[in-house]
Amino acid sequence: MRLADTHPTSYYAATRTETPAFPTLQGEVRSDVCVVGAGFTGLSTALTLAERGYSVTVLEQHRVGWGASGRNGGQMLGGLPGEANLQRHWGTAHADALFELGYRGHAIIAQRVQQYAIDCDLKYGAIDVALRPRHLAHQQQTHAALCARGMEDQVRLVKADELQHLLGTDKYLGGLVNTRNGHLHPLNLCLGEARAAAALGVSLFEGSGVTAIEHGTQAVVKTAQGSVRADFVVLAGNAYQQLEPAVLSGLIFPAGSYIVATEPLSAAEAAQINPLDLAVCDMNEVLDYFRLSADRRLLFGGRCNYSGREPRDIGGTMVPRLRRIYPQLAHKRVEYAWGGKIAIVLNRVPLLGRIGPNVFYALGYSGHGVSLSHAVGEVLADAVAGTCERMDVFARVPHRKIPFGQTFGSQMVALGMLYFRLRDLL
Ligand SMILES: Cc1cc2nc3c(=O)[nH]c(=O)nc-3n(C[C@H](O)[C@H](O)[C@H](O)COP(=O)(O)OP(=O)(O)OC[C@H]3O[C@@H](n4cnc5c(N)ncnc54)[C@H](O)[C@@H]3O)c2cc1C
Repeated sequence: MRLADTHPTSYYAATRTETPAFPTLQGEVRSDVCVVGAGFTGLSTALTLAERGYSVTVLEQHRVGWGASGRNGGQMLGGLPGEANLQRHWGTAHADALFELGYRGHAIIAQRVQQYAIDCDLKYGAIDVALRPRHLAHQQQTHAALCARGMEDQVRLVKADELQHLLGTDKYLGGLVNTRNGHLHPLNLCLGEARAAAALGVSLFEGSGVTAIEHGTQAVVKTAQGSVRADFVVLAGNAYQQLEPAVLSGLIFPAGSYIVATEPLSAAEAAQINPLDLAVCDMNEVLDYFRLSADRRLLFGGRCNYSGREPRDIGGTMVPRLRRIYPQLAHKRVEYAWGGKIAIVLNRVPLLGRIGPNVFYALGYSGHGVSLSHAVGEVLADAVAGTCERMDVFARVPHRKIPFGQTFGSQMVALGMLYFRLRDLL
C-alpha cells in the first residue's frame, strides 16, 4: 500500500529526472543493517554497505529525498563544520584525516554520479564572498591553509573589482574561488542513489516512519505496520530525527532555511551575473547562498525570519534580499519557493556516535551536509564493520544540550537564530 505522500513543491520536485517509488513496510523483515531515513546520510550509508556485501533495509517516513537532501541549495562544499572546535579538542592529532574527510564526500559523489549514471547537473566551481573586513582576513587564512594542503591550483582570492565581473554585483568586498567545490541538483542525486541502492539489493520502504526501536543483540525497528530485525541500526533522520530522545534530544536546533527560484534567465542575464556558473555563499553565520540551475534560474536561499516558525510568505522575505544584490533582475518572476530544516549543533561539530553496541547515529551538519553526509555514510559503514576510528574522532568531542530545547521548540530556534545573527552583526 502506498501513502498519498509526495515531495514538497519545489524547483527540484518539478524537475525530477527519476521517480522511483517504494512500498510501505508490512510484516517482519530481517537484514544485517536497518537504516532510518532516506536522505543523503541514510542512502549513502546503505549504498556503501550494499557495495560491501551487507543486506540493508532503509525505512523512510515520507519519500526518498523528502527531507533536507531533496530541498537544499545544492552546494557541494568542502571542509568540516566545527573544524576549529575539533582542532581545539584534538590538537594536531587527526588533522590530516579531518582535512581528507572534509573533501571525501566530493569524491564519493563524483564516483557515484559516474558509476551509476546519475543525472544531477553536477558542476564544479564555487565562491565564498565577504561582507565585512573580518571575512576578508578569514578568506586569506583559508586560502593559505588550502594552498598548504596542495590545493593552490584550485583556490584563488578575488578582489572586489573582479567580483563585479564574476558575480555582476558590487555588494561584496572580496571572494575565495574554489574549483574543487561545486553544485548539483540534490533531489536527482538522492533519487539516483536510491535507484542504485535498490539495484544492489537494498530494500527501501517509503511511508514507513519508525516509531520505536527495541534494543538487543538484534534490534527490532518498528513501524506502524511492520518491523525490521537487524544486527545494526543507523539513525539518519537529521533535523527530522525524533527517536532515542534520552540521548539525542536537545543536541541540535532545527533552523529553517528557505529558497526561491526565479523564472529562467536569458543567456545574456546569466552571463552578466555568473559567467563561470559558480555556487555562491556569503560568509555570515546566518548566510545567504545562491547559484544558477541547469536551466538558468537563480536559486536564492537563506534564512527567512528569526521567529523559528514556518514563514507564511517565503517569497515576500527572500525576494527583497535577492533584489538588493541583483536589482537588474527585479523584473524576474519567482516561480518556486520552499524551505526545509537544517540541524544546527551549538559547537558545529557533527554528531556521530552510538547508542549501545549496535545503534549508530549521524546528524547535525549545520547546513553543510551535501558533501559531508556522503563522507559520513562511509564512516558509518566502517563503524558497522567494526572500524570506529573516524567515528570516534567526532564521538569523543563533548556536546552541550540546548536547555529545554524539546519543550520550547520554536522559541529556542528563534533565540538560536538571533544569537548567530548578532554574531554576524557585531
Ligand atoms: C533549505 C536548505 C538548504 C541547504 N543548502 C545546503 C547546501 O547548499 N549545501 C550543503 O552542503 N548543505 C545544505 N543544506 C543541508 C543539507 O541539505 C543537509 O545537511 C543534508 O541534506 C542532511 O542529509 P540527511 O540525510 O542527514 O538528512 P535529511 O535529508 O533531512 O533526511 C532525513 C530523512 O529521515 C527521515 N526520517 C526522520 N525520522 C524518521 C523516522 N522516525 N522514520 C523514518 N524516516 C525518518 C526524514 O523524513 C528525512 O527524509 C541545506 C538544508 C536546507 C534545509
